[in-house]
Amino acid sequence: MSTYDIAVIGGGPGGYVAAIRAAKLGKKVALVEYGHLGGTCLNRGCIPSKTLLRHAEIIEQIEKAKDWGIEAGPVTLSLEKMLKRKDQVIKKLRTGIEYLMKQGNIEVFSGLGEVEADGTVRISGQEKESTIKADKIIVATGSTPFVPTLAGIDSARFYTSDTVFDIEKIPDSIVIIGGGIIGVEFACIFTSLGVDVTIVEMGDRIIPSEDPDASKHLAKTLKKKGVRILTNTKVTELKQAGDTQQVVVESDKGKTEVIDTEDLLICVGRKPNLSAISKLDLGMNGPFVKVNDMMQTSQPNIYAVGDLIGGWQLAHAASAEGVVAAANAAGERESIKGKIIPRCVYTSPEVASVGISEAEAKKRGLHVKVVKTDLSANGKALAMGEAEGFVKLIADVKHGEILGVTMVGPHVTEMIAEPTAFMHLEGTVEELDSMVHAHPTISEALYEAAGSWLGKGVHS
Ligand code: NAD
Repeated sequence: MSTYDIAVIGGGPGGYVAAIRAAKLGKKVALVEYGHLGGTCLNRGCIPSKTLLRHAEIIEQIEKAKDWGIEAGPVTLSLEKMLKRKDQVIKKLRTGIEYLMKQGNIEVFSGLGEVEADGTVRISGQEKESTIKADKIIVATGSTPFVPTLAGIDSARFYTSDTVFDIEKIPDSIVIIGGGIIGVEFACIFTSLGVDVTIVEMGDRIIPSEDPDASKHLAKTLKKKGVRILTNTKVTELKQAGDTQQVVVESDKGKTEVIDTEDLLICVGRKPNLSAISKLDLGMNGPFVKVNDMMQTSQPNIYAVGDLIGGWQLAHAASAEGVVAAANAAGERESIKGKIIPRCVYTSPEVASVGISEAEAKKRGLHVKVVKTDLSANGKALAMGEAEGFVKLIADVKHGEILGVTMVGPHVTEMIAEPTAFMHLEGTVEELDSMVHAHPTISEALYEAAGSWLGKGVHS
């Protein structure tokens, strides 16, 4: 039986990053992956969706340019070419990870990894089963789309985020069940392709994990693009009528409606993939694996990271946890505590946030001051024709420490790194206000927010 210092199960952004860090710390590492390296993020998540969203952005820009006197003739779309480009991007990044595995002398096993009661890892699902042994194990098996129990679900034809990237035809219409992050990103993709989109959201607003003002702004923009948004509405039944599917919905006021649609996308959250640890009796935190700040499970030689442990279920959170787990498994001491995790929604306009929201500050009883600056007077945003959006800044009244920022607008998913850096260094509004920001940039809106918070902003 081959032996290793550290075995990692799962090759997504949690697992492969942990494996590389462990190898760089001088450990002999094995990585077990059933599918493709890169996990959900690279193969069925962040990267393919961002590639398709870039297409959506370009289609929108072409449409908008008409009003600016730039005519490019009628837009034609080739789904085949768009999906081909998406596959090329995935392949390039996947090859990069394969190269990094080789460079780190990480032995990659293709198959399903399962931790046995005696601590060995059995690898199955391929022609030949094998078993390896490791002193420490990092489990990073991610999550799978959650499919709710609904009347008619068994005979319904629906996509999840695992299957929608291989859609073969642009449908005339699509109903998206769930107005969370996946739901709104796909609403942007499909509406740009001319699809009639309806979002059915059970809660009282879309992207409920974000600031209510961000939800409101995004909902307004999506509606302007023609997306129908039904909030406080649940799906009660799915029916088939020939090639058409019927989605029966009911509002919280008891109003029912039958929506005819060609396609259906279900994105109502993800459930942890516990397949690698089903033979162990690990401590749990609801449906997720419980870990301490060092990413250790209740069995100290077994670490868990990523979607498996819940939390934000974001690729970069998984990678940060993977680095911490690898360091601790390699005998160092690192903690996840205090890591600042930014969040990005790649819609148009984009939404990005870091730290706590106004509501969270209130809930924690914190004495904070909140300011919101608009992009409507921002020179760069106006020049780009995208001056809709805002920056909201939350800081503690006593010391001016920045506790949270939400941004809506163009490029904010890039800009969120600035407030994240301030928060990482426990920076204050005063320090942000004293920093020179280039002009004209959208980042000036954050600087303006700091000035406004202090009551000495130039424009607000
Ligand atoms: P989510 O938790 O973001 O949103 C699910 C939404 O579905 C919620 O708004 C919820 O109220 C609603 N919902 C639940 N059950 C419903 C029902 N029966 N009918 C109608 N609505 C219902 O989940 P998601 O959008 O599936 O995304 C899964 C995970 O992937 C999230 O944790 C998300 O953060 C992550 N993700 C992140 C990004 C990004 O960072 N840009 C992109 C995609 C996914």
